[in-house]
Amino acid sequence: MYDLNTIKRLTNDYGSPLYVFRVDDFIENYRIFEESFKSRYPKYKIAYSYKTNYTPEICRIIKDMGGYAEVVSDMELMAAVRLGYENDRIIYNGPYKGRKGIEHFMKGGILHVDHLHELTKLCDLAENNPHMQFTIGFRLNIDIGQNFISRFGLDVENGDLQKAFDMVSEVGNLHVIGLHCHIGQSRTIEAWKNRVRIMLAYADRYFEKPPRYIDLGSGMFARMNPALAEQFGEHIPSFEDYADAVAKAFHEHYKAFPMEDKPLLFTEPGTTLINSYVDFIGKAECIKRIKGREFVVFNCSKDNIGDICRIKNLPITVVPGGEPECECKEADFVGYTCLEHDVMYKGFQGRIAPEDYVVFENVGGYSNVSKPPFISENCAMVALKRDGEARVMKYREKFDDIFRTYVF
Ligand SMILES: *Cc1c(COP(=O)(O)O)cnc(C)c1O
Repeated sequence: MYDLNTIKRLTNDYGSPLYVFRVDDFIENYRIFEESFKSRYPKYKIAYSYKTNYTPEICRIIKDMGGYAEVVSDMELMAAVRLGYENDRIIYNGPYKGRKGIEHFMKGGILHVDHLHELTKLCDLAENNPHMQFTIGFRLNIDIGQNFISRFGLDVENGDLQKAFDMVSEVGNLHVIGLHCHIGQSRTIEAWKNRVRIMLAYADRYFEKPPRYIDLGSGMFARMNPALAEQFGEHIPSFEDYADAVAKAFHEHYKAFPMEDKPLLFTEPGTTLINSYVDFIGKAECIKRIKGREFVVFNCSKDNIGDICRIKNLPITVVPGGEPECECKEADFVGYTCLEHDVMYKGFQGRIAPEDYVVFENVGGYSNVSKPPFISENCAMVALKRDGEARVMKYREKFDDIFRTYVF
């Protein structure tokens, strides 16, 4: 995919380093993921997590394929609205919703209450607008066997959830239409079976008829390069495995109901959809040997790639740039920042030279959207089609993009 000519063409046109979004592979993966769920439970919808990567071109493709938008701030909500989303296809989650959250609620958007203080305000709004009808969903704080206490949602055990339902029952024009949960870092099939079992039990307990929807949040492994998969030290379930645990269970649970009464099933994939379809091309600047250690200095940083390179070595390909190469035994790939811990890859063994390009795979999630303006601006992102056609998705940042909000 990335021969030297392609890389030279792309970096000449858009600069170096560079993010590359492999658009055709992304679309194919999206369809496979969605189909594995829909084939088992037709009333399934993807709600794409904007925070994972809100690049508008990616979000637009998802919109065109029928996906909902899952947002957690006014900023992300505005991005979805600007892409043409109606409020009823935007899910607004999160512990702190800005002023636009109110607007979203008034316009019939999907909104998940995180705490009772928020619910009090929404109840007041509904009461002050008696001629209108309002809907909300509750985010449940449940235990699926994760090894931490989540801070999100209404606790199902301490009485908060019951209190929330009681509060809403006092307001004639406000209706709870859905239940939501999201628990991070719990990607096993076992954890998904627990999500399903627990959420279905609460739906049965609190709703006479099935709710309009149940949203199980995110937390499924992406399809990934085996070089990355083996570093997890656990079995990576397939989309089919997840769909069996989730969509098949929904099919079974709601078998007796006609299609129009079955709840819509949402999940909120971010990483699962985008991670494997953005690559990052950096360039080696020099090789240093200091007191028995080897360093390859790059024109990029861990901040471009995101948090994942702190815990895993991403799959990489070295594309020789033509200089005489030298053999490394255990080199760290280090970034342009002046931080000792700016390491993008640990313990590289092989041949590399200054001016070589290195392609880092699996950088789709929490990368360009998490890049701080620390020390330098961010680089450009392009969409690359299988036939080689490239199109810019994000321009390279300039001095003014960073300093515009400061007073000189
Ligand atoms: C972060 C988040 C997601 C997406 O998580 P990924 O691990 O990136 O897939 C989905 N839903 C909610 C509520 C989130 O906070």
